[in-house]
Amino acid sequence: MQRGEDRKRRRKDRPMRSNRRDCKVCEHDIKFSYRRADELRRYLNKVGKILPRRATRLCAKHQRAVAGQIKRARKMALLPYAMAEQ
Ligand SMILES: [Zn+2]
Repeated sequence: MQRGEDRKRRRKDRPMRSNRRDCKVCEHDIKFSYRRADELRRYLNKVGKILPRRATRLCAKHQRAVAGQIKRARKMALLPYAMAEQ
């Protein structure tokens, strides 16, 4: 099991990331609103999908809040459901 051991070692070498409280929204006490679509656009990828938590680095609470507001904004046609890839 040479491969498995290699993988394990690599994981250990990676520097430890602080596991909590690096959510930007908690830090700066930002409120999301579907009306401010420009802000929400930062949490979409280039095809218009909502970025996963591992990409946004938000806490569960704020990821839910962002996703909820994005979905509302989509219904109001302020944000796209899908965009053409360039
Ligand atoms: Zn948060």
